[in-house]
Amino acid sequence: MFNYLKKPWVLAILVVVIAISAFFIIPVEKRQYGLSETAMTTDYTGLLPEKIETIHEANNREQLVSIVRQANQDGKKISIAGVQHSQGGHTYYKDGIVIDMKPFNKILNVDQKKKTVTVEAGALISDIQQAVTKKGLALKVSQSLPIFSVGGSLSVNGHGRDIRNGSMASTVQKMTVITPTGTLKTLTKKANQQEMSYYLGGYGLFGIIVDVTLSLTDNEVYAYEPEEVAVSSYETYLKNVLADDSIAMHYARLSVDPEHFLNEMYVMNYKKTGRVAQNAALKEETQIRLSKLGLDLGRQGGKAETLFWNMQKDLFLKKTGKTITRNNAMRSESTFMEYTKKGSVEVLQEFFIPIDAYEEFVAHLKTWLPKDDQHDEVKLHNITLRIVSKDESTQLNYAREPMIAFVLLIQHPSSETGINQAKTYIQKWTDTALAHNGTYYLPYYPYQTTEQFKAAYPQAKHVLDYKLEQDPNEVFVNHFYDNYLQKVAN
Ligand SMILES: Cc1cc2nc3c(=O)[nH]c(=O)nc-3n(C[C@H](O)[C@H](O)[C@H](O)COP(=O)(O)OP(=O)(O)OC[C@H]3O[C@@H](n4cnc5c(N)ncnc54)[C@H](O)[C@@H]3O)c2cc1C
Repeated sequence: MFNYLKKPWVLAILVVVIAISAFFIIPVEKRQYGLSETAMTTDYTGLLPEKIETIHEANNREQLVSIVRQANQDGKKISIAGVQHSQGGHTYYKDGIVIDMKPFNKILNVDQKKKTVTVEAGALISDIQQAVTKKGLALKVSQSLPIFSVGGSLSVNGHGRDIRNGSMASTVQKMTVITPTGTLKTLTKKANQQEMSYYLGGYGLFGIIVDVTLSLTDNEVYAYEPEEVAVSSYETYLKNVLADDSIAMHYARLSVDPEHFLNEMYVMNYKKTGRVAQNAALKEETQIRLSKLGLDLGRQGGKAETLFWNMQKDLFLKKTGKTITRNNAMRSESTFMEYTKKGSVEVLQEFFIPIDAYEEFVAHLKTWLPKDDQHDEVKLHNITLRIVSKDESTQLNYAREPMIAFVLLIQHPSSETGINQAKTYIQKWTDTALAHNGTYYLPYYPYQTTEQFKAAYPQAKHVLDYKLEQDPNEVFVNHFYDNYLQKVAN
Protein backbone atom coordinates (compact mmCIF):
# COMPACT_ATOMS: atom_id res chain seq x y z
CA MET A 1 0.00 0.00 0.00
CA PHE A 2 2.85 2.39 0.85
CA ASN A 3 4.16 1.97 -2.68
CA TYR A 4 1.28 4.18 -3.78
CA LEU A 5 2.87 7.05 -1.90
CA LYS A 6 5.78 6.95 -4.31
CA LYS A 7 3.52 7.79 -7.24
CA PRO A 8 3.67 11.56 -8.04
CA TRP A 9 -0.09 11.92 -8.59
CA VAL A 10 -0.85 10.39 -5.15
CA LEU A 11 1.63 12.75 -3.55
CA ALA A 12 0.10 15.69 -5.41
CA ILE A 13 -3.41 14.75 -4.19
CA LEU A 14 -2.09 14.41 -0.64
CA VAL A 15 -0.49 17.85 -0.77
CA VAL A 16 -3.72 19.39 -2.11
CA VAL A 17 -5.84 17.65 0.57
CA ILE A 18 -3.49 18.81 3.35
CA ALA A 19 -3.43 22.38 1.95
CA ILE A 20 -7.24 22.50 1.68
CA SER A 21 -7.69 21.09 5.21
CA ALA A 22 -5.15 23.58 6.60
CA PHE A 23 -6.96 26.37 4.77
CA PHE A 24 -10.38 25.49 6.20
CA ILE A 25 -9.13 25.19 9.75
CA ILE A 26 -7.64 28.69 9.78
CA PRO A 27 -9.75 30.21 12.55
CA VAL A 28 -11.66 33.40 11.73
CA GLU A 29 -12.11 34.69 15.24
CA LYS A 30 -14.01 37.72 16.41
CA ARG A 31 -12.35 40.01 18.87
CA GLN A 32 -13.86 39.91 22.37
CA TYR A 33 -14.82 43.39 23.48
CA GLY A 34 -17.89 45.33 24.52
CA LEU A 35 -20.15 46.68 27.22
CA SER A 36 -20.77 44.88 30.51
CA GLU A 37 -22.26 45.77 33.88
CA THR A 38 -20.69 42.78 35.59
CA ALA A 39 -17.32 42.36 33.92
CA MET A 40 -14.95 45.02 32.62
CA THR A 41 -16.07 47.17 29.69
CA THR A 42 -13.61 47.58 26.80
CA ASP A 43 -13.56 48.88 23.26
CA TYR A 44 -12.06 47.39 20.10
CA THR A 45 -8.47 47.19 21.40
CA GLY A 46 -9.33 46.09 24.93
CA LEU A 47 -6.45 48.27 26.19
CA LEU A 48 -8.47 50.35 28.66
CA PRO A 49 -10.72 48.01 30.67
CA GLU A 50 -13.08 49.87 32.99
CA LYS A 51 -15.88 49.13 35.44
CA ILE A 52 -19.03 51.01 34.51
CA GLU A 53 -22.26 51.33 36.50
CA THR A 54 -25.18 50.98 34.09
CA ILE A 55 -25.97 50.37 30.44
CA HIS A 56 -29.11 51.94 28.99
CA GLU A 57 -30.17 50.62 25.62
CA ALA A 58 -31.47 53.56 23.59
CA ASN A 59 -35.15 53.10 22.73
CA ASN A 60 -36.78 56.43 22.11
CA ARG A 61 -36.25 60.17 22.39
CA GLU A 62 -38.25 60.66 25.60
CA GLN A 63 -36.25 57.94 27.38
CA LEU A 64 -32.96 59.55 26.26
CA VAL A 65 -34.06 63.02 27.42
CA SER A 66 -35.09 61.59 30.77
CA ILE A 67 -31.73 59.75 31.25
CA VAL A 68 -29.83 62.98 30.58
CA ARG A 69 -31.98 65.10 32.91
CA GLN A 70 -31.76 62.50 35.68
CA ALA A 71 -27.96 62.29 35.34
CA ASN A 72 -27.75 66.08 35.71
CA GLN A 73 -29.83 65.87 38.89
CA ASP A 74 -27.96 62.91 40.38
CA GLY A 75 -24.44 64.05 39.47
CA LYS A 76 -23.92 60.99 37.24
CA LYS A 77 -21.67 60.66 34.21
CA ILE A 78 -22.81 59.55 30.74
CA SER A 79 -20.85 58.16 27.80
CA ILE A 80 -22.30 57.19 24.44
CA ALA A 81 -21.46 54.00 22.53
CA GLY A 82 -22.04 53.07 18.91
CA VAL A 83 -20.25 49.87 17.90
CA GLN A 84 -17.15 50.86 19.89
CA HIS A 85 -14.55 50.70 17.15
CA SER A 86 -12.88 53.77 18.59
CA GLN A 87 -9.81 52.61 20.49
CA GLY A 88 -9.17 54.97 23.38
CA GLY A 89 -12.05 54.44 25.82
CA HIS A 90 -14.18 57.01 23.96
CA THR A 91 -17.40 55.14 24.76
CA TYR A 92 -17.30 54.62 28.54
CA TYR A 93 -16.13 56.09 31.85
CA LYS A 94 -15.36 54.80 35.33
CA ASP A 95 -18.60 54.13 37.25
CA GLY A 96 -20.58 55.90 34.55
CA ILE A 97 -23.74 55.27 32.59
CA VAL A 98 -23.28 54.09 29.01
CA ILE A 99 -26.02 54.76 26.47
CA ASP A 100 -25.87 51.94 23.96
CA MET A 101 -27.14 53.45 20.71
CA LYS A 102 -27.18 50.20 18.72
CA PRO A 103 -30.90 49.40 19.16
CA PHE A 104 -31.83 52.93 18.05
CA ASN A 105 -31.31 52.14 14.39
CA LYS A 106 -34.32 52.85 12.20
CA ILE A 107 -34.04 54.21 8.68
CA LEU A 108 -36.63 56.98 8.93
CA ASN A 109 -36.80 58.22 5.36
CA VAL A 110 -35.08 58.00 1.99
CA ASP A 111 -35.94 61.04 -0.13
CA GLN A 112 -35.16 60.01 -3.69
CA LYS A 113 -35.83 63.47 -5.12
CA LYS A 114 -33.71 65.43 -2.66
CA LYS A 115 -31.19 62.56 -2.43
CA THR A 116 -31.12 62.40 1.35
CA VAL A 117 -31.51 59.71 3.99
CA THR A 118 -32.74 60.29 7.53
CA VAL A 119 -31.65 57.72 10.12
CA GLU A 120 -31.51 57.14 13.83
CA ALA A 121 -27.94 57.48 15.05
CA GLY A 122 -27.47 53.84 16.11
CA ALA A 123 -28.00 52.60 12.52
CA LEU A 124 -24.94 51.18 10.81
CA ILE A 125 -23.51 52.49 7.55
CA SER A 126 -24.41 49.08 6.07
CA ASP A 127 -28.07 49.61 7.14
CA ILE A 128 -28.09 52.81 5.08
CA GLN A 129 -26.47 51.03 2.15
CA GLN A 130 -29.19 48.33 2.27
CA ALA A 131 -31.92 51.00 2.22
CA VAL A 132 -30.51 53.25 -0.50
CA THR A 133 -29.01 50.82 -3.00
CA LYS A 134 -32.56 49.76 -3.93
CA LYS A 135 -33.17 53.31 -5.09
CA GLY A 136 -29.97 53.69 -7.08
CA LEU A 137 -28.40 55.87 -4.38
CA ALA A 138 -25.28 55.83 -2.20
CA LEU A 139 -23.75 57.87 0.61
CA LYS A 140 -21.64 60.84 -0.42
CA VAL A 141 -18.99 60.01 2.17
CA SER A 142 -18.38 57.14 4.55
CA GLN A 143 -15.46 55.13 5.86
CA SER A 144 -14.20 52.34 3.63
CA LEU A 145 -15.88 49.76 5.90
CA PRO A 146 -19.66 49.78 6.50
CA ILE A 147 -19.55 48.30 10.01
CA PHE A 148 -19.73 51.56 12.02
CA SER A 149 -22.69 53.35 13.57
CA VAL A 150 -23.81 56.66 12.07
CA GLY A 151 -23.52 58.50 15.42
CA GLY A 152 -20.00 57.14 16.01
CA SER A 153 -18.94 57.95 12.45
CA LEU A 154 -20.12 61.56 12.70
CA SER A 155 -18.70 62.04 16.19
CA VAL A 156 -15.22 61.17 14.91
CA ASN A 157 -15.85 62.88 11.54
CA GLY A 158 -15.07 59.74 9.54
CA HIS A 159 -13.66 59.78 6.02
CA GLY A 160 -12.86 57.20 3.37
CA ARG A 161 -12.09 56.81 -0.32
CA ASP A 162 -14.20 59.63 -1.76
CA ILE A 163 -11.98 62.54 -2.86
CA ARG A 164 -14.69 65.01 -3.90
CA ASN A 165 -17.10 65.46 -1.01
CA GLY A 166 -15.04 66.22 2.12
CA SER A 167 -15.45 64.23 5.32
CA MET A 168 -18.69 62.78 6.71
CA ALA A 169 -19.55 65.84 8.81
CA SER A 170 -19.90 67.97 5.71
CA THR A 171 -22.69 65.71 4.40
CA VAL A 172 -25.03 66.33 7.36
CA GLN A 173 -28.03 68.45 6.34
CA LYS A 174 -30.00 68.25 9.56
CA MET A 175 -29.74 66.61 12.95
CA THR A 176 -31.74 66.10 16.12
CA VAL A 177 -29.67 66.28 19.27
CA ILE A 178 -30.15 66.16 23.03
CA THR A 179 -28.09 68.84 24.73
CA PRO A 180 -26.01 68.06 27.84
CA THR A 181 -28.78 69.47 30.05
CA GLY A 182 -31.51 67.45 28.36
CA THR A 183 -33.16 69.60 25.69
CA LEU A 184 -34.23 68.01 22.41
CA LYS A 185 -33.22 70.27 19.51
CA THR A 186 -33.27 70.24 15.72
CA LEU A 187 -30.26 71.78 14.00
CA THR A 188 -29.94 72.46 10.30
CA LYS A 189 -26.87 73.13 8.21
CA LYS A 190 -28.43 76.35 6.94
CA ALA A 191 -29.38 77.84 10.31
CA ASN A 192 -27.13 76.18 12.90
CA GLN A 193 -23.85 75.23 11.26
CA GLN A 194 -21.79 76.65 14.11
CA GLU A 195 -23.67 74.71 16.80
CA MET A 196 -23.55 71.52 14.71
CA SER A 197 -19.77 71.82 14.44
CA TYR A 198 -19.37 70.87 18.13
CA TYR A 199 -21.47 67.69 17.85
CA LEU A 200 -19.75 66.68 14.59
CA GLY A 201 -16.30 65.39 15.46
CA GLY A 202 -17.27 66.04 19.10
CA TYR A 203 -16.59 62.52 20.47
CA GLY A 204 -19.88 62.37 22.38
CA LEU A 205 -18.95 65.25 24.68
CA PHE A 206 -21.66 67.72 23.60
CA GLY A 207 -24.76 65.55 24.02
CA ILE A 208 -26.49 62.82 22.04
CA ILE A 209 -26.89 62.80 18.28
CA VAL A 210 -30.37 61.31 17.98
CA ASP A 211 -30.98 61.27 14.24
CA VAL A 212 -29.44 62.82 11.14
CA THR A 213 -30.26 63.63 7.55
CA LEU A 214 -27.31 62.87 5.28
CA SER A 215 -26.70 63.78 1.62
CA LEU A 216 -26.78 60.99 -0.92
CA THR A 217 -25.60 60.74 -4.48
CA ASP A 218 -26.09 58.29 -7.35
CA ASN A 219 -24.85 54.74 -6.91
CA GLU A 220 -22.42 55.22 -9.78
CA VAL A 221 -20.52 52.40 -11.42
CA TYR A 222 -16.76 52.86 -11.42
CA ALA A 223 -13.98 51.12 -13.32
CA TYR A 224 -10.97 50.17 -11.24
CA GLU A 225 -7.81 51.90 -12.40
CA PRO A 226 -4.91 50.62 -10.34
CA GLU A 227 -1.39 51.79 -11.11
CA GLU A 228 2.10 51.51 -9.72
CA VAL A 229 3.48 54.98 -9.02
CA ALA A 230 6.98 56.10 -8.02
CA VAL A 231 6.88 57.15 -4.35
CA SER A 232 8.73 60.37 -5.19
CA SER A 233 6.22 61.44 -7.87
CA TYR A 234 3.01 60.79 -5.92
CA GLU A 235 2.50 64.46 -5.02
CA THR A 236 2.34 65.45 -8.71
CA TYR A 237 0.37 62.31 -9.57
CA LEU A 238 -2.21 63.12 -6.89
CA LYS A 239 -2.61 66.72 -8.06
CA ASN A 240 -3.42 65.35 -11.53
CA VAL A 241 -5.94 62.91 -10.03
CA LEU A 242 -7.61 65.74 -8.12
CA ALA A 243 -7.82 67.80 -11.30
CA ASP A 244 -9.44 64.91 -13.18
CA ASP A 245 -13.18 64.99 -12.41
CA SER A 246 -13.71 61.56 -13.91
CA ILE A 247 -11.99 60.00 -10.86
CA ALA A 248 -14.42 59.78 -7.96
CA MET A 249 -12.41 57.84 -5.41
CA HIS A 250 -8.79 57.10 -4.79
CA TYR A 251 -6.42 55.58 -2.29
CA ALA A 252 -2.83 54.36 -2.29
CA ARG A 253 -0.64 51.94 -0.39
CA LEU A 254 3.03 52.38 0.53
CA SER A 255 5.34 49.39 0.96
CA VAL A 256 6.54 48.66 4.49
CA ASP A 257 8.32 45.36 3.86
CA PRO A 258 12.11 45.34 4.39
CA GLU A 259 13.01 44.94 0.71
CA HIS A 260 10.95 47.89 -0.59
CA PHE A 261 10.62 49.93 2.59
CA LEU A 262 8.81 53.19 1.62
CA ASN A 263 10.17 52.76 -1.91
CA GLU A 264 7.18 51.29 -3.74
CA MET A 265 3.57 52.28 -3.95
CA TYR A 266 0.44 51.47 -5.90
CA VAL A 267 -2.71 53.51 -6.21
CA MET A 268 -6.32 52.59 -6.84
CA ASN A 269 -8.46 55.04 -8.81
CA TYR A 270 -12.21 54.60 -9.23
CA LYS A 271 -13.06 56.05 -12.62
CA LYS A 272 -16.61 57.07 -13.54
CA THR A 273 -18.16 54.95 -16.30
CA GLY A 274 -21.18 57.23 -16.74
CA ARG A 275 -23.50 54.47 -15.54
CA VAL A 276 -25.68 54.40 -12.39
CA ALA A 277 -26.58 51.07 -10.80
CA GLN A 278 -30.29 50.72 -10.03
CA ASN A 279 -31.00 48.27 -7.20
CA ALA A 280 -27.49 46.74 -7.37
CA ALA A 281 -26.65 43.95 -4.93
CA LEU A 282 -24.33 44.77 -2.04
CA LYS A 283 -21.26 42.58 -1.90
CA GLU A 284 -20.79 40.30 1.06
CA GLU A 285 -17.46 39.27 2.55
CA THR A 286 -15.84 36.43 0.62
CA GLN A 287 -12.52 34.58 0.74
CA ILE A 288 -12.04 35.64 4.35
CA ARG A 289 -9.61 32.81 5.09
CA LEU A 290 -7.54 33.47 1.99
CA SER A 291 -7.20 37.18 2.86
CA LYS A 292 -6.41 36.28 6.47
CA LEU A 293 -3.76 33.83 5.30
CA GLY A 294 -2.14 36.63 3.26
CA LEU A 295 -2.28 39.17 6.08
CA ASP A 296 -0.92 36.65 8.59
CA LEU A 297 1.97 36.03 6.18
CA GLY A 298 2.72 39.77 6.15
CA ARG A 299 2.51 39.84 9.94
CA GLN A 300 5.52 37.46 10.07
CA GLY A 301 7.77 40.31 8.84
CA GLY A 302 11.06 39.86 6.94
CA LYS A 303 10.96 37.90 3.67
CA ALA A 304 7.36 36.79 4.31
CA GLU A 305 6.29 40.45 4.46
CA THR A 306 8.03 41.10 1.14
CA LEU A 307 6.26 38.11 -0.39
CA PHE A 308 2.93 39.46 0.93
CA TRP A 309 3.60 42.94 -0.50
CA ASN A 310 4.40 41.49 -3.96
CA MET A 311 1.30 39.28 -3.94
CA GLN A 312 -0.97 42.07 -2.74
CA LYS A 313 0.36 44.48 -5.38
CA ASP A 314 -0.09 41.94 -8.18
CA LEU A 315 -3.64 41.20 -7.07
CA PHE A 316 -4.55 44.90 -7.06
CA LEU A 317 -2.95 45.60 -10.42
CA LYS A 318 -4.96 42.73 -11.94
CA LYS A 319 -8.22 44.54 -11.13
CA THR A 320 -7.74 46.93 -14.06
CA GLY A 321 -10.96 47.45 -16.00
CA LYS A 322 -13.21 45.53 -13.61
CA THR A 323 -16.16 47.54 -12.29
CA ILE A 324 -17.63 48.22 -8.86
CA THR A 325 -20.60 50.25 -7.61
CA ARG A 326 -20.10 53.22 -5.31
CA ASN A 327 -21.84 51.43 -2.41
CA ASN A 328 -19.54 48.45 -2.81
CA ALA A 329 -16.46 50.66 -3.02
CA MET A 330 -17.44 51.85 0.48
CA ARG A 331 -17.92 48.30 1.71
CA SER A 332 -14.51 46.71 2.11
CA GLU A 333 -14.01 43.46 3.95
CA SER A 334 -12.96 43.65 7.59
CA THR A 335 -13.33 40.22 9.20
CA PHE A 336 -9.99 38.97 7.85
CA MET A 337 -8.21 41.78 9.74
CA GLU A 338 -9.25 40.47 13.17
CA TYR A 339 -6.16 39.96 15.28
CA THR A 340 -6.58 37.98 18.47
CA LYS A 341 -3.09 36.93 19.52
CA LYS A 342 -2.82 36.89 23.31
CA GLY A 343 -0.42 39.43 24.80
CA SER A 344 -0.31 41.49 21.64
CA VAL A 345 -2.54 44.07 20.04
CA GLU A 346 -2.98 45.70 16.63
CA VAL A 347 -3.93 49.35 16.65
CA LEU A 348 -4.63 52.06 14.13
CA GLN A 349 -3.00 55.47 13.95
CA GLU A 350 -3.61 58.12 11.34
CA PHE A 351 -1.59 61.20 10.40
CA PHE A 352 -2.81 63.98 8.11
CA ILE A 353 -0.13 65.76 6.08
CA PRO A 354 -0.70 68.76 3.78
CA ILE A 355 -0.44 67.54 0.18
CA ASP A 356 2.49 69.85 -0.55
CA ALA A 357 4.45 68.44 2.40
CA TYR A 358 4.14 64.78 1.34
CA GLU A 359 7.61 64.35 -0.17
CA GLU A 360 9.43 65.96 2.74
CA PHE A 361 7.34 63.95 5.22
CA VAL A 362 8.20 60.61 3.57
CA ALA A 363 11.88 61.61 3.33
CA HIS A 364 11.83 62.53 7.03
CA LEU A 365 10.24 59.16 7.95
CA LYS A 366 13.04 57.37 6.11
CA THR A 367 15.61 59.02 8.40
CA TRP A 368 14.37 57.28 11.52
CA LEU A 369 11.90 54.46 10.82
CA PRO A 370 13.47 50.98 11.01
CA LYS A 371 13.51 49.37 7.55
CA ASP A 372 13.15 45.94 9.03
CA ASP A 373 11.08 45.68 12.23
CA GLN A 374 10.69 41.89 12.21
CA HIS A 375 12.46 41.52 15.55
CA ASP A 376 11.21 44.76 17.12
CA GLU A 377 8.42 44.89 19.70
CA VAL A 378 6.57 47.57 17.72
CA LYS A 379 5.87 46.56 14.12
CA LEU A 380 4.38 48.56 11.27
CA HIS A 381 2.21 46.36 9.07
CA ASN A 382 0.52 48.66 6.62
CA ILE A 383 0.34 52.24 5.35
CA THR A 384 -2.70 53.22 3.32
CA LEU A 385 -2.96 56.76 1.98
CA ARG A 386 -6.28 58.57 1.64
CA ILE A 387 -7.23 62.07 0.63
CA VAL A 388 -9.29 64.45 2.77
CA SER A 389 -10.44 67.85 1.58
CA LYS A 390 -10.40 70.96 3.73
CA ASP A 391 -12.92 70.60 6.56
CA GLU A 392 -15.16 73.47 7.59
CA SER A 393 -17.75 71.47 9.52
CA THR A 394 -16.07 70.57 12.81
CA GLN A 395 -14.32 72.35 15.66
CA LEU A 396 -11.77 69.61 16.40
CA ASN A 397 -10.63 69.87 12.81
CA TYR A 398 -7.90 67.54 11.51
CA ALA A 399 -7.89 68.94 7.95
CA ARG A 400 -7.53 72.70 7.93
CA GLU A 401 -6.33 72.32 4.33
CA PRO A 402 -6.45 69.39 1.87
CA MET A 403 -4.48 66.56 3.42
CA ILE A 404 -3.05 63.13 2.66
CA ALA A 405 -4.01 60.75 5.46
CA PHE A 406 -1.40 58.11 6.35
CA VAL A 407 -3.39 55.27 7.95
CA LEU A 408 -1.07 52.93 9.87
CA LEU A 409 -1.63 49.45 11.21
CA ILE A 410 0.74 48.86 14.11
CA GLN A 411 1.27 45.80 16.29
CA HIS A 412 2.74 45.93 19.79
CA PRO A 413 2.68 43.91 23.03
CA SER A 414 -0.31 44.74 25.24
CA SER A 415 1.87 44.78 28.40
CA GLU A 416 2.67 48.09 30.10
CA THR A 417 6.20 47.92 28.66
CA GLY A 418 4.79 47.24 25.20
CA ILE A 419 2.39 50.17 25.45
CA ASN A 420 5.26 52.44 26.52
CA GLN A 421 7.37 51.25 23.59
CA ALA A 422 4.46 52.00 21.26
CA LYS A 423 4.08 55.43 22.90
CA THR A 424 7.69 56.34 22.13
CA TYR A 425 7.33 55.15 18.54
CA ILE A 426 3.96 56.84 17.89
CA GLN A 427 5.03 60.08 19.57
CA LYS A 428 7.94 60.16 17.13
CA TRP A 429 5.53 59.72 14.23
CA THR A 430 3.44 62.54 15.71
CA ASP A 431 6.45 64.86 16.03
CA THR A 432 7.35 64.10 12.42
CA ALA A 433 3.78 64.93 11.33
CA LEU A 434 3.69 68.13 13.41
CA ALA A 435 7.03 69.22 11.92
CA HIS A 436 5.31 69.20 8.51
CA ASN A 437 2.17 71.05 9.66
CA GLY A 438 0.31 67.79 10.01
CA THR A 439 -2.27 66.58 12.51
CA TYR A 440 -3.38 63.20 13.77
CA TYR A 441 -6.71 61.40 14.15
CA LEU A 442 -8.39 61.24 17.55
CA PRO A 443 -10.52 58.04 17.71
CA TYR A 444 -7.52 55.96 18.69
CA TYR A 445 -5.58 55.08 21.85
CA PRO A 446 -4.04 58.13 23.60
CA TYR A 447 -0.36 57.54 22.82
CA GLN A 448 0.24 61.24 22.16
CA THR A 449 1.19 63.83 24.80
CA THR A 450 -0.96 66.79 25.80
CA GLU A 451 1.58 69.10 24.16
CA GLN A 452 1.23 67.19 20.90
CA PHE A 453 -2.57 67.37 21.18
CA LYS A 454 -2.43 71.13 21.71
CA ALA A 455 -0.07 71.56 18.74
CA ALA A 456 -2.28 69.49 16.42
CA TYR A 457 -5.55 70.99 17.69
CA PRO A 458 -4.92 74.63 18.63
CA GLN A 459 -8.71 75.13 18.93
CA ALA A 460 -8.95 72.55 21.76
CA LYS A 461 -9.02 75.15 24.57
CA HIS A 462 -11.92 76.95 22.91
CA VAL A 463 -13.71 73.60 22.49
CA LEU A 464 -13.22 72.83 26.18
CA ASP A 465 -14.53 76.27 27.21
CA TYR A 466 -17.63 75.77 25.08
CA LYS A 467 -18.08 72.28 26.50
CA LEU A 468 -18.02 73.60 30.08
CA GLU A 469 -20.50 76.33 29.17
CA GLN A 470 -22.93 73.82 27.62
CA ASP A 471 -22.30 70.99 30.07
CA PRO A 472 -21.59 72.72 33.40
CA ASN A 473 -22.06 69.47 35.35
CA GLU A 474 -19.66 67.63 33.03
CA VAL A 475 -22.25 64.93 32.49
CA PHE A 476 -20.92 63.77 29.10
CA VAL A 477 -17.47 62.34 29.65
CA ASN A 478 -15.24 59.50 28.49
CA HIS A 479 -11.55 58.55 28.50
CA PHE A 480 -10.91 60.87 25.58
CA TYR A 481 -12.20 63.77 27.71
CA ASP A 482 -9.86 62.85 30.57
CA ASN A 483 -6.85 62.02 28.43
CA TYR A 484 -7.01 64.93 26.02
CA LEU A 485 -9.62 67.65 26.14
CA GLN A 486 -9.70 68.27 29.88
CA LYS A 487 -5.90 68.48 29.99
CA VAL A 488 -5.80 71.61 27.85
CA ALA A 489 -7.43 73.57 30.70
CA ASN A 490 -4.02 74.62 32.00
C1 LIG B 1 -10.84 48.38 11.72
C2 LIG B 1 -11.16 49.85 11.76
C3 LIG B 1 -11.24 50.55 10.56
C4 LIG B 1 -11.52 51.91 10.57
N1 LIG B 1 -11.62 52.55 9.37
C5 LIG B 1 -11.88 53.88 9.36
C6 LIG B 1 -12.00 54.60 8.14
O1 LIG B 1 -11.92 54.05 7.05
N2 LIG B 1 -12.23 55.94 8.22
C7 LIG B 1 -12.38 56.58 9.41
O2 LIG B 1 -12.60 57.79 9.43
N3 LIG B 1 -12.30 55.92 10.55
C8 LIG B 1 -12.05 54.61 10.57
N4 LIG B 1 -11.98 53.95 11.76
C9 LIG B 1 -12.28 54.68 12.96
C10 LIG B 1 -13.81 54.62 13.13
O3 LIG B 1 -14.38 55.38 12.14
C11 LIG B 1 -14.26 55.24 14.36
O4 LIG B 1 -13.79 54.48 15.39
C12 LIG B 1 -15.82 55.34 14.43
O5 LIG B 1 -16.14 55.99 15.57
C13 LIG B 1 -16.45 54.04 14.47
O6 LIG B 1 -17.85 54.14 14.71
P1 LIG B 1 -18.43 53.42 16.00
O7 LIG B 1 -19.87 53.20 15.81
O8 LIG B 1 -17.60 52.25 16.34
O9 LIG B 1 -18.20 54.57 17.09
P2 LIG B 1 -17.89 54.39 18.65
O10 LIG B 1 -16.50 53.90 18.78
O11 LIG B 1 -18.95 53.61 19.28
O12 LIG B 1 -17.96 55.90 19.11
C14 LIG B 1 -17.02 56.84 18.66
C15 LIG B 1 -17.29 58.18 19.32
O13 LIG B 1 -18.57 58.65 18.93
C16 LIG B 1 -19.38 58.93 20.07
N5 LIG B 1 -20.76 58.60 19.70
C17 LIG B 1 -21.24 57.42 19.25
N6 LIG B 1 -22.55 57.54 18.96
C18 LIG B 1 -22.91 58.79 19.28
C19 LIG B 1 -24.15 59.50 19.24
N7 LIG B 1 -25.27 58.95 18.81
N8 LIG B 1 -24.16 60.78 19.68
C20 LIG B 1 -23.02 61.38 20.10
N9 LIG B 1 -21.85 60.75 20.18
C21 LIG B 1 -21.79 59.48 19.77
C22 LIG B 1 -18.82 58.07 21.17
O14 LIG B 1 -19.11 58.59 22.45
C23 LIG B 1 -17.33 58.10 20.85
O15 LIG B 1 -16.74 59.23 21.39
C24 LIG B 1 -11.71 52.59 11.80
C25 LIG B 1 -11.63 51.89 13.00
C26 LIG B 1 -11.36 50.53 12.98
C27 LIG B 1 -11.24 49.81 14.28
